[in-house]
Amino acid sequence: MSQPVFSAVALALATVSSVCAGAVGCARHEDVPAPTPHTPAASVGGARAVPSAFVQVAALPAKTNPSLACLARLYGVTVTPDGAGLQTPLPTGAVIPWDDGRRKTEEERLETPDLHDLFLAPYPSHAMPDGNGGPTSTGDPGRIRVYALLDARYGAPGPALEKKLVTVPFVDTRVRVHPLVAPVLTAVENRLKLAIAKDQKLLKFLHNLGGTYNDRAIAGTDRKSAHAYGIAIDLSVPESAYWRSTPRFSNRFPKEIIDAFESEGFIWGGRWAHFDTMHFEYRPEFFDESCTPSSRTDPH
Ligand SMILES: [Zn+2]
Repeated sequence: MSQPVFSAVALALATVSSVCAGAVGCARHEDVPAPTPHTPAASVGGARAVPSAFVQVAALPAKTNPSLACLARLYGVTVTPDGAGLQTPLPTGAVIPWDDGRRKTEEERLETPDLHDLFLAPYPSHAMPDGNGGPTSTGDPGRIRVYALLDARYGAPGPALEKKLVTVPFVDTRVRVHPLVAPVLTAVENRLKLAIAKDQKLLKFLHNLGGTYNDRAIAGTDRKSAHAYGIAIDLSVPESAYWRSTPRFSNRFPKEIIDAFESEGFIWGGRWAHFDTMHFEYRPEFFDESCTPSSRTDPH
């Protein structure tokens, strides 16, 4: 017997699916993670290097935390003069601390993360979940987002951001994404085309897309979705599994598809304890080793 909440979600998904089956993206669902300008990622010894074309780092403090320098480079912001955080060019002059000194619950980390919180759960790229046994990682790597960082990089969600979006081909449809992510998604598409040439069965996972841009909040929260920045894509809705509507983790998306996205700096929602298997989101910081902090331990 299904619970009413699941029925409501299923109905919502069916509705969105029918609306979004066309070209331009209109995603729903949960999400995770954020982007950068782009040059094709190089593959180094099987590990993927992430695009890092955009460099805008002023003189760094003498004792700069390497993770801060990495984030500053990927997101086009600067390290604060005291080396304790990142300075954004936002009108608010927002400063994002590496460590805000607060002890937080998991939910509080989602609501008010500092930069260190981003990396508490390691992202296990290219390790497929073990059958139906659930994501390989502990926690939800990449599900925490520092919105001031995304705002600084892509603009705050809303009409001004929407005006910047571009429409690009994606397999046999077209999708609308942030211009800083468009080249990265095209690089993913190129990888997918090579995989499809070897196995046509992959195509069904790239039809009936959930969508890309959608200025909405994450289901069940008032936090913005990555889709509101145009940096995420939901693949086939019929093939997806979502934690709010599926009691146990299951995944049908093949490794070839996940590899194509992760190779270009997209994280996959199938790696979250709160899984969302059709969701991919551009978050280059999880694929750049210089962003990884020396310690993931929560100091509080
Ligand atoms: Zn999504």
